[in-house]
Amino acid sequence: MLDKKIKDLGEEILKSKYTIVLTGAGMSTESGISDFRSKEGVWSKFDPMEVASRKALENDYDNFHDFYSLRLKTKVEKKPHLGHEILAKWEEKGYINGVITQNVDNFHLEAGSKNVYPIHGSITKYRCNQCNKEVSKEDFIAKMPCENCGGNLRPRIVLFGESLPGEILEGAIREIEKADLVIIIGTSLSVYPAANLHAYTRGKIVYINDEAKTDKRIHMFIEGKAGQVLKLVDEHINSK
Ligand code: NAD
Repeated sequence: MLDKKIKDLGEEILKSKYTIVLTGAGMSTESGISDFRSKEGVWSKFDPMEVASRKALENDYDNFHDFYSLRLKTKVEKKPHLGHEILAKWEEKGYINGVITQNVDNFHLEAGSKNVYPIHGSITKYRCNQCNKEVSKEDFIAKMPCENCGGNLRPRIVLFGESLPGEILEGAIREIEKADLVIIIGTSLSVYPAANLHAYTRGKIVYINDEAKTDKRIHMFIEGKAGQVLKLVDEHINSK
């Protein structure tokens, strides 16, 4: 059954004229970055509203800062895995056309993907929360006040309670509208608007995840680890 689905996805990719991949935190767990909502996920240890929200940033900066410093330190030791590299190679070869990601870890760009829409921002970029001035990661880690206005520094990511950057989101929607194949990988499909982006395609939707989720818009579900499934699909494509 898995074999057939792997072959079918390989064929769909070769046949499709415009393929967009939509990734979530499950894309990066094989790199050693925890996702949020599975059993071992970050939310089993932290309350999101206490650490990753606009409210936390404004009312409890120490806690907010500790959480993101820790996530940043964890990320420094980690690298994109084979699955990220396969997606970058597929883009280069013209098999896929872009990646829309909820992940803030920058792994798709680090692996070589070019047309990337990081709709929740990136933990590699920092700014002042007050005056928006671009600042360095080092200044954030050192908990420096903004040298321009004295405000608190923060990662350039979307926190709970904040809206998504309009331009990137609109670009991502345009990509999905163009797509005749959308491959969703490693997301619980529970954070909106990301969880509903695939609704903009009139094409086929394939969902790769290590736990099933019911969604009547999905045409094929492949249960498995992102990196492992992508490797098998890549082998099928290479065998053609
Ligand atoms: P989520 O934690 O809600 O869901 C992750 C899903 O991926 C789960 O269904 C899980 O079973 C599945 N999964 C875990 N490992 C997998 C693997 N190896 N292969 C296939 N599936 C796997 O994550 P989400 O839906 O992306 O939403 C969480 C939000 O948190 C996002 O908005 C994102 O910005 C943020 N986040 C980002 C990172 C990151 O940058 N790496 C990590 C955690 C959370």
